[in-house]
Amino acid sequence: IKKIGVMTSGGDSPGMNAAIRSVVRACAYHKIECYGIYRGYEGMIDGDFVQMDARSVKGIINKGGTILKSARSQTFRTKEGRAKAHEELIKAGIDSLVVIGGDGSFTGAMIFNQEFGFPVMGIPGTIDNDIFGTTHTLGYDTALNTVVDAIDKIRDTASSHNRLFFVEVMGRDVGHIALNVGIAGGAEEILIPEEDLGLDRLVESLRRSKKSGKSSSIVVVAEGDKIGKSVFELKDYVDQNMEGYDVRVSVLGHMQRGGAPSCFDRVLASRMGVRAVESLIAGKSNFMVGLKNDIIDLTPFDQAVKGKSKINMELLRVSDIMSI
Ligand code: ATP
Repeated sequence: IKKIGVMTSGGDSPGMNAAIRSVVRACAYHKIECYGIYRGYEGMIDGDFVQMDARSVKGIINKGGTILKSARSQTFRTKEGRAKAHEELIKAGIDSLVVIGGDGSFTGAMIFNQEFGFPVMGIPGTIDNDIFGTTHTLGYDTALNTVVDAIDKIRDTASSHNRLFFVEVMGRDVGHIALNVGIAGGAEEILIPEEDLGLDRLVESLRRSKKSGKSSSIVVVAEGDKIGKSVFELKDYVDQNMEGYDVRVSVLGHMQRGGAPSCFDRVLASRMGVRAVESLIAGKSNFMVGLKNDIIDLTPFDQAVKGKSKINMELLRVSDIMSI
């Protein structure tokens, strides 16, 4: 291993910059050249590379987003696109890759490895925490704190006006964000993709809490929740079937992906970057770096991509008890 390429791919997440910094500095420490690849697989196909040294990643550990930019690439899904990307890497002398991204990015990396035998390592960067093989993906912890902050603010206005707020948070496939911020933000109900509560039970539960003297309520809804077609449909149903509440919807959207990474995400990114580089040096390939029981561990890409990240059922029960 002489030249490692590092890139960020798919949706961005806080902590990606800290991971780039870690990869670059671990390379410098081990006297390996490091190249940044701009715009994920798009930049790889275009040969959009920049040499990076320890100083070129100064002042970024606390920055959200990614200095290398991210992209989704249709061309990389084609054999020709991947062949062009391989050509560009060889031309630049890059002989191994660290891909920071989600399961789509890992699938691309795995296929690239199968086709060209190119050494690849992955770092899970996505706020959804929907990747098997790590208890925390990069950006997840920061997103939790950002969303709790937003819910606290929404609660101020909800309680001043006797309002019921449906707050939609990210989580297409898994309810990690919804479940945790729901408990931390004191939500009445938490609606997640893993569990279909049903519209009637939702209304019943809201009626019960109103009777028990609550004057405002927050319901946290993961975007992949299956009860209604959308959070607006939920609002309409509750509007029609409940009196005494002014029902509102707040879709938090992309603000959840921004902001300075938390201390936890910065430390995690630093650990993952070092492990990714040192694994490549040790001759390993086709693995994702992950956190398990506070130990940085490797999971084969195919398991990371196929496996399902499971929610903690204890949290569901705690949430039920807390909303009595
Ligand atoms: P997020 O969790 O934010 O969605 P992701 O990494 O899963 O991140 P995707 O858009 O699914 O995001 O994947 C990123 C890129 O990886 C795609 O734009 C594409 O270039 C590449 N990719 C994904 N799946 C494949 C595949 N089956 N074959 C080749 N490339 C792929």
